[in-house]
Amino acid sequence: MKINTAEFVVSNSDAKKCPNEPIPEYAFIGRSNVGKSSLINMLTNQKNLAKTSSRPGKTQLINHFKINSNWYLVDLPGYGYAKVSKKTKSTFQKFITDYFEKRQQLVSAFVLVDIRHEAQKIDLEFMQYLGQSEVPFSIIFTKADKVGKQKVNSLVADYRKKMLADNWEEMPPYFVTSSEDKIGRDEVLEYIDEINKE
Ligand code: GDP
Repeated sequence: MKINTAEFVVSNSDAKKCPNEPIPEYAFIGRSNVGKSSLINMLTNQKNLAKTSSRPGKTQLINHFKINSNWYLVDLPGYGYAKVSKKTKSTFQKFITDYFEKRQQLVSAFVLVDIRHEAQKIDLEFMQYLGQSEVPFSIIFTKADKVGKQKVNSLVADYRKKMLADNWEEMPPYFVTSSEDKIGRDEVLEYIDEINKE
């Protein structure tokens, strides 16, 4: 898919206030600092569409970006950020769950995980939650430039093993990416394109 236009539309902290156009949307979510803003900038070919920052937990809003006038890329807040208060944590978790459970336009989610670390409980639990909520999702491994190819394979294998142990029938679709080296861009965009054509 060629990206012709990518524009920021709206930010909010209430799933009910998201744009109500009936166009498909794809949500990107992961732990803070996983590389989500960098990935969104890489996918859309923009330097600063999503704000990249080394300060975790900064973007605690649902951000809608309209791509090629026919689909939305949705940037969701990072989860599992330790340094916010319990109250803030439960508020933003509630609007994330509202979004996943009520958003009709949501076609599929992408759960981002840092390829350098073995499958973490919080990510696996989040995927369980998506499964229980019947939200289709894929996994995006980020920062692949930081590890060798063999390590990539063994980390993906670790995910597969842990997901099967968690009673998943199979590993969901997954993508190995690096925003630094521009790896995985075409694969993710083609995947979205294929679903949009269905
Ligand atoms: P976010 O909090 O998930 O939006 O993460 P950011 O995109 O702000 O990235 C967090 C940190 O990881 C920043 O210091 C980025 O420069 C770094 N980073 C993000 N993607 C990559 C990547 O593909 N490769 C490398 N080496 N670093 C990355």
